[in-house]
Amino acid sequence: MALKTFTLDLDADGLALFTWDMAGTSMNVINLDVMADLETIVTRLETDEAITGAVIASGKQAFSGGADLSMLETALKTYHAGRKMDPVAATEALHSETSRLSKLLRRLETCGKPVACALSGTALGGGFELALACHYRVAADTSGAKFGLPEVKVGLLPGAGGTQRISRILSHQDALQLLMQGRELRARQAKGMGLIDDIVPANALTDVAKAWVRDCKTPTQAWDRKGFKLPGGRVWSPHGAQTFIAANAILRRETALNYPAARMILACVYEGLQVPIDTGLTIESRYFTKAIASPEAAAMIRTLFLSMQELNKGARRPKDVPDRTPKKVGVIGAGFMGCGVAYVTAAAGMETVVLDSDPEALERARAHAERQIADQIGKGRAQPEDKAALLDRLDVTDDYAALEGCDLVIEAVFEDTGIKADVTQSAEAHLSNDAVFASNTSTLPITGLAKASCRPGQFIGIHFFSPVEKMRLVEIILGNGTNDAALATALDYVRAIRKTPIVVNDARGFFTSRVVATYVREGHIMLAEGVPAPMIETAGKLAGMPVGPLALNDEVAVDLAWKILDATRKEMGEDAVDPRQMHILEEMVIKRGRLGRKNQKGFYDYTDTGEKRLWPGLSEISGAQLDPEAVDVDELKRRFLVVQALESARCVSDKVITDVREADVGAILGFGYAPHTGGPLTYIDQMGTATFVTLCKALAERLGPRFQPDVLLEEMAGAGETFYARFAPEKDKAA
Ligand code: NAD
Repeated sequence: MALKTFTLDLDADGLALFTWDMAGTSMNVINLDVMADLETIVTRLETDEAITGAVIASGKQAFSGGADLSMLETALKTYHAGRKMDPVAATEALHSETSRLSKLLRRLETCGKPVACALSGTALGGGFELALACHYRVAADTSGAKFGLPEVKVGLLPGAGGTQRISRILSHQDALQLLMQGRELRARQAKGMGLIDDIVPANALTDVAKAWVRDCKTPTQAWDRKGFKLPGGRVWSPHGAQTFIAANAILRRETALNYPAARMILACVYEGLQVPIDTGLTIESRYFTKAIASPEAAAMIRTLFLSMQELNKGARRPKDVPDRTPKKVGVIGAGFMGCGVAYVTAAAGMETVVLDSDPEALERARAHAERQIADQIGKGRAQPEDKAALLDRLDVTDDYAALEGCDLVIEAVFEDTGIKADVTQSAEAHLSNDAVFASNTSTLPITGLAKASCRPGQFIGIHFFSPVEKMRLVEIILGNGTNDAALATALDYVRAIRKTPIVVNDARGFFTSRVVATYVREGHIMLAEGVPAPMIETAGKLAGMPVGPLALNDEVAVDLAWKILDATRKEMGEDAVDPRQMHILEEMVIKRGRLGRKNQKGFYDYTDTGEKRLWPGLSEISGAQLDPEAVDVDELKRRFLVVQALESARCVSDKVITDVREADVGAILGFGYAPHTGGPLTYIDQMGTATFVTLCKALAERLGPRFQPDVLLEEMAGAGETFYARFAPEKDKAA
């Protein structure tokens, strides 16, 4: 039997060790070759009497990352092309392709011989479903390995038995939480829940798995044995009924029903647990076909998996610059942002110098790092010995000479051009010609700040989001003179701290701040129109945004919004700002000192314990209140998504965005633009540019010129073009 992606080692007593080790890649993924091999393996287990049992292992550090989503993307393209000719045949073909793994895994678990899975490390998605179809799972005791079924995060559901097996191992509630949130578990958590049977030292992994196979007397799954009882009880038991009713309510609250796959997972479990597993698997396969054909899955797979992966792998990195991953990094300004930047840098193994003129800030930087690493150790994500090593790498100082030898310096001092110019010059006096200087400014143009530098080519923007430890996006801003070496350094640094970069050109607000500001502005304008504040906030969340615009403004600071608007008015004239927004902010900040969460008074009132409720006085500053019954919530939702999509399209026209993938990934990771849409440009593409332009014009007529589409959009609408076709990323052009 010829296997391409597995090797077979058959011992004298007929125990087969199948080691999954795909050539030319660091991670095993399920693609067509792997499925062909699994077919061969299963057939051999079913028919070869010389084989008594099997262990499935991995030749790599991880077990498997799951399905190769680019394979699914290709299947989808074929489906959409075929659907135009014969929708039934196209759906049948898609179903037959996407249910193949599920059928194979069912054959594996009913082959009559014991099969153990040796998990050397991470097993996610289809990789974990393969493990679940084995009769025994043993994991190596290594830190960092993750287990789970995160399909829902890309608009899918586990389609190879995951929903059926998990819900036959866990209680209804645990199963639904795991599947609907796409939670990833550490080995100990997975073992505690019964999803993994044992954890053993890595060097004993295969032996333990083999020993289990040799000793196994009942090579069947619990659900195939007589008298099997569901751990959560029957769906129609009082407890079951309670769980599913609550799950429905939670689904609605958490997703606003924007994610069809999450709803289908609930249906798979609910329907599948009322029938034998074979029927349950059929139900799951059908829902999977439906989910994968949904626009949400197409959008999320492209943006949140494929594009994100391409950007992480350096899609925007200048190809001919050798590796420039910094070894030593300076962080100037140990404030709110600087502390986070210093921690993630030191945690990634780089020597880190934190410089601040305030000794208390330096104390805080060290304390912050200690707290963060202790938290990681507590969660099992770092080892106790990592703490001393990390703190050893973190040097705090007020002396610029300590920056000597830094390959990269990032300043995060006050947002003031003069102060930033001073620190740039003080730092550069100690840096080699090759070193790069970066600013974490959120509003000041990089080209302007670079004027203080003695080598503006080496000056760049590296814009972090708060909280730095959690937020995955970093926005890199090129000044007019920034050179390729500086860009490569910034990208290599961002890769080292394991975040996702987007690269944008210099302009007011860069990309993320500019687009999210339109969301907040729309909220302010609605308030001025007299839309009740709770409706504004709810409509934002129903549209798919993580928080309402008023809550978001409170978090960022209402006075910051005021300052930016006031500066824009002074620089660009009255027409550059919306007078209704100006009015709202002036009333809030100047007349009432309501600055947001930071002084516990903003659009919301905050208690000392962090609870909040909308400020009852909002009606004093908004227009006459509209009758809630007369407000069209769907229109509010549309306004929120359209206004941001339009601004993103303008960023393409202005060349702030030069790669469409970055607008979509940046908007979702940076400020949570409705992830189910795949990002603002995919939102336009899926709607159709012509439809979008018509919609914008109608909104512009009723609500004002901020909704007016620009020349590029009009041109694209006329030509029937999409953003991803007209501005095809390099990889697609080559294809
Ligand atoms: P902060 O006020 O919390 O911290 C600034 C720190 O810089 C203070 O510790 C201060 O002592 C130090 N500092 C000031 N002048 C200095 C000097 N001359 N030499 C050495 N140290 C000096 O500010 P922050 O919120 O961390 O913001 C820092 C930068 O990051 C700003 O440019 C801001 O626009 C940007 N930023 C902030 C956020 C955010 O959410 N706060 C997000 C992205 C970017």
